[in-house]
Amino acid sequence: MTRSPTHYDAIVIGLGALGAATLYQLSQRGARVLGIDQFAPPHDRGSSHGDSRITRLAVGEGDEYVPLVHRSHAIWRELEARTGRPLMTTTGGLILAPRDRVAEHHGKSDFVRRTIACAERFGIAHEVLDAAGIRARYPQFHLQGDEIGYLERDAGFVRPEDAIAAQLAVARADGAQTRTGERVLGVEPVGNGDTVRVRTETASFTADQVVVAAGAWLPEFLGRQARTDWQAHFSVHRQVMHWFDTGPAAAADFAPGRFPIFIWMFGDAQEDYMYGFPASDASQPALKVATEQYVDATTPDALVREVSAEETAAMYRDRVAGRFPQIAGHALKARACMYTVTPDRRFVIDALDGLPNLLIVSACSGHGFKHSAGLGDAIADRVLGRESAHGLDLRPFARERLATSQHP
Ligand SMILES: Cc1cc2nc3c(=O)[nH]c(=O)nc-3n(C[C@H](O)[C@H](O)[C@H](O)COP(=O)(O)OP(=O)(O)OC[C@H]3O[C@@H](n4cnc5c(N)ncnc54)[C@H](O)[C@@H]3O)c2cc1C
Repeated sequence: MTRSPTHYDAIVIGLGALGAATLYQLSQRGARVLGIDQFAPPHDRGSSHGDSRITRLAVGEGDEYVPLVHRSHAIWRELEARTGRPLMTTTGGLILAPRDRVAEHHGKSDFVRRTIACAERFGIAHEVLDAAGIRARYPQFHLQGDEIGYLERDAGFVRPEDAIAAQLAVARADGAQTRTGERVLGVEPVGNGDTVRVRTETASFTADQVVVAAGAWLPEFLGRQARTDWQAHFSVHRQVMHWFDTGPAAAADFAPGRFPIFIWMFGDAQEDYMYGFPASDASQPALKVATEQYVDATTPDALVREVSAEETAAMYRDRVAGRFPQIAGHALKARACMYTVTPDRRFVIDALDGLPNLLIVSACSGHGFKHSAGLGDAIADRVLGRESAHGLDLRPFARERLATSQHP
C-alpha cells in the first residue's frame, strides 16, 4: 500500500534533549521520521540551555539510571567522532557533604552515601576522600574540615546545546525531516487507533507512533488533551544558573583540567546546597554554580526569565563567598531555566493510557540531560517494537507508580 507523504513511522514532538536524541536514534534505524518543535532547537526557552550539564556514572538517584548514563557517554563519543564537535568533557566529579550527616543518612547529604554504594555495586572508578584529601587535590574549595567527598574519575559535563545540535544535524543528514517554529496543537487517534494524527498550527500529519518530548510544556499539552489525571503529576519550577568571573589570576585553577564538576551539601535545609562546573568557555573563564528550588511553581509562559542582580548577589553571599575564596563575586551572566518535576523526582516514560502508540517522555526533575542520549536509544527501540540491543529498560519509569500521587 502506498502511504501518504504526510504519514510517518514516527513523529517526535519537541526537539530538546529527549526529542533530539529520539529523532537521532530513529534516523539511525532507518525509520521514516518527522520531528516538530515550536522553536528552533537548540534554544534557551526550555530546560536544555546554559552551556553545561553534569554527568556522572554512579547515579545516587537510583540503579536503574546507571545503564542509561553509560550508554549516553558512548553515544556522545560516537557523535563527537562523527561531527568533530566536542560534546562531553571529562573533568572528574566531586560530591561532598558533612561526614556526620552522611553517616546518619541525613536528608540531602545521604546522596553521598547512596552514590558511593552505587559506585561499589557497579564497579565505577572512584575514591572516597576526607577534607585533607579533598584539599590536597582541589585547594580551590574552602572546607570546614569535617567533609567527606566522593570523587569519580569519569564524571564531567556535557554541552547541552551542542549535543542537541549534533543529534539533529546527523538525524537530518540521515533522512529525518524536521519542522521548526511550528507548534503542535493536539494529537488524536485515527480510525481504529493504529494511527495518530498530529495537528500543528499550519498542517496535519499522521504516524504509526508519536513521542511527546515537550519538556516544561508537557503539563499544558496534557491539559489540552484533557488528561488532567496525568497533568497532575508534573510541576514546573524556575531554576537559576550563575556564572562568576574567575578573574585572570584564578582562570587556570578553574579550568576543566584542574577543577571538577561538584555537588556540595553543606547544611540541613534544602537550600544548603549548590552544584557547579569548571569554566567551559576559555574566552570567558567563570565558575558556574546553581542551586535548586521546588517551592514556587511556574509555567513556560509565566516564567520570569530575567535574573535580578539581587538573586545573583544572594547566590554569591549565601553559597559561594567563603567557599571559593578566589571568586570575588563579579557575575558574567545568569540564566533562568525550568525543571519539570514529578512528586518522586523520577522520570515518566509511558504510553498514554488508551493510546498505546502515544509515548509520553518526561525526563527532567533536574537530572535528565546525562541520560538523554541513552533514553533516545531505548525510546527508539520501544517505538519500533524492538528489544534494546544495550539492555536498556524503561519499565522503571512507568506512570503507574504515580497514579495515586500528585503535587499539593
Ligand atoms: C538549570 C538546570 C540545570 C540542570 N542541570 C542538569 C545537570 O547538571 N545534569 C543533568 O543530567 N540534567 C540537568 N538538568 C535537567 C536536564 O537539563 C533536563 O532533564 C533536560 O534538558 C530536559 O529535556 P527535555 O527534552 O525534556 O526538555 P527541553 O529540552 O526543554 O525540550 C522540550 C522541547 O519541546 C518543545 N515543545 C514543547 N511543546 C511543544 C509543542 N506544543 N509543539 C512543538 N514543540 C513543543 C519545546 O520548544 C522544546 O524545544 C538541568 C535542568 C535545568 C533547568
